[in-house]
Amino acid sequence: MSEAHVPYTTNNAGVPVESDSDSLTAGPVGPILLHDHYLIEKMAQFNRERVPERVVHAKGGGAYGVFQVTQDVSRYTRADLFQPGKRTEMLARFSTVAGELGTPDSWRDPRGFALKFYTEQGNYDLVGNNTPVFFVRDPIKFQDFIRSQKRRPDTHLRDHDMQWDFWTLSPESAHMVTWLMGDRGIPRSWRHMNGYGSHTYQWVNAAGERFWVKYHFKTDQGIEFLTQAEADRLAGEDPDAHLRDLYDAIVAGDHPSWTLYVQVMPFDDAWDYRFNPFDLTKVWPHGDHPLIEVGRMTLNRNPDNYHVHIEQAAFEPSNLVPGIGVSPDKMLLGRIFSYPDTHRYRIGPNYAQLPPNRAHVPVHSYAKDGPMRFDAARAEVPYAPNSYGGPAARPELWGAPLGWDVAGRMVREAYPLHREDDDWGQAGTMVRQVLDDAARERLVSNISGHLLKGVSAPVLARAVRYWRNVDQALGDRIAAEVDGGRAADGR
Ligand code: NDP
Repeated sequence: MSEAHVPYTTNNAGVPVESDSDSLTAGPVGPILLHDHYLIEKMAQFNRERVPERVVHAKGGGAYGVFQVTQDVSRYTRADLFQPGKRTEMLARFSTVAGELGTPDSWRDPRGFALKFYTEQGNYDLVGNNTPVFFVRDPIKFQDFIRSQKRRPDTHLRDHDMQWDFWTLSPESAHMVTWLMGDRGIPRSWRHMNGYGSHTYQWVNAAGERFWVKYHFKTDQGIEFLTQAEADRLAGEDPDAHLRDLYDAIVAGDHPSWTLYVQVMPFDDAWDYRFNPFDLTKVWPHGDHPLIEVGRMTLNRNPDNYHVHIEQAAFEPSNLVPGIGVSPDKMLLGRIFSYPDTHRYRIGPNYAQLPPNRAHVPVHSYAKDGPMRFDAARAEVPYAPNSYGGPAARPELWGAPLGWDVAGRMVREAYPLHREDDDWGQAGTMVRQVLDDAARERLVSNISGHLLKGVSAPVLARAVRYWRNVDQALGDRIAAEVDGGRAADGR
C-alpha cells in the first residue's frame, strides 16, 4: 500500500491528530500538558475499554450462520423460522460457565450453547447448554449454586469443598453432576458437542393446538471429548483451544453444523406424565418422545470484531416469537427476567440496538432515550395510544394464545411429584444403561479425582452417600478410590 493510501489518524471526532507517538510537553523534558486532549482521549477510552464480564458464561466465542428447515413441523408450530424450507440467519455463542474471561476452554464445566435467530417475526433466542438438564430446578437457588462454583470470599480461590457441599446438599443436582463428571463434561471442541434447549417450551400451530417441546441440536461433527489428562495438558498449552478451533474451522471453509430435532409432547399429556416434564433436572426419555428432525444450523462466518459481535451479544430467553412460548419450568420463568436484566447492567439499556442484537426486521417499539441511543426511528409519537399514526399492537400476529390455565393460592412449594420423579433415578439410568464399562471407569476416576482436591471429611462422606444413591456400585467404587487416595496422601 502506498503512503498516500494509508488513512491518516484522527481523534474520535474525525480531526487529524498531530502525532501517533509523542505527547505534548512543555519542552522535551517538561511536564505533559493537560490540554493534550488526544492523549487524554486515548487514556480515558482505554480505561473504559472493557464492559463488565458476564457473571456466568464469561469465556466464550461464536460465529454467524444460517438455520435451514429440512422437514415439515408446521403441524406443531406456526413459528415462521420453523416453516418448511425456511432459511434464517443466526448467531451462536459457546462458552464455559464458571470461569472468567481468561480461563482455559478445556476446564470441566457445562458449555453454553446460545443461539439467536434473526427471524421475520423478530429475534428468537434459544439460550441452551450442551447438557439436556441442569443443577437446580428453582431459580431461587441459582445464585447460591453459582457462588459455590466461583471463588471464595477470603482466599479468592475456587474451592472443591464449596462445590461438593452445595451439590450434596442439593440432591436435584445429581443428574447434571453425573453428566458433568462423565465424558461429555469436557468436549474436544465446541464443534464436537450437542446443544440442548434444556427447558421445556410450548409450541402452538396455526389451528391453535398446543404442544410441549424440547430442542436437541446434534453435532454433525460427531461427539468427541477430552480425557481429564488431555484437558489438563491443553489448559496449559492452549487455553483458547476451543475459540481457536471454531475460528480456524470456519476460515478453512469447514463449516460446522448441527441437526435440530425436537421432542414433542401433546399439551394434555404433561400433567400425568411419569416424570414432571417441566423439571429442568429431568430429560424426556427418547423411548417416550422420539426425536423429530426439524432442520440444520451451519456456522459459516466469523465475526470481524470479537468485542462488537460476541462480547456485546445479548441472548435472552425472553426473545420468543409467535408460535413459541414458555412452560411452567421455573428456571425458564426466572431466566426470562434475569437475562435482559443482566444485559441492561452489563452493556446498557439500549443493548438491542447493537449489531449482534439488532433485529433484521423494522423495530417499532415505544422504547426511547437512555445512554447511547442512536436509533431515533420512532421519535415522532412517543406514546400509545395516539392518533398520529404511531405503532399499534396487533394481537392477531400472535395467533391462538399460548399458555396454560392457572389457579391457586400463592405458595412456595416444590413441583407436585409425578409417578417416577426422584432426584437419583435418571442419573442412575445414565450410569447403568447409557455408559459402557470404560466410560463408567472414567466417571469414577473423574469424580474421585475431583473429590480428592480439598474436600473436607464431612462433605466427602456426604458425597459418597450421594453417589451410592445414584448407583450403589458406583458409590462403592468412589468410596474405595477416595479412601485409598486419602490413605495414600497420608490425610
Ligand atoms: P436413550 O438410550 O434413548 O438415550 C441415551 C442418550 O444418552 C443418548 O441418546 C445420548 O444423547 C446420551 N449419552 C450418551 N452418552 C452419554 C454421556 N457419556 N454423557 C451424557 N449423555 C450421554 O435413553 P433415554 O432417552 O431413555 O435416556 C436415558 C438416560 O440418558 C437419561 O436418564 C439421561 O441421563 C441420558 N440422556 C437422555 C437424553 C434425552 O433427552 N432423553 C439426552 C442425553 C442424555 P444424545 O442422543 O442427545 O447424544
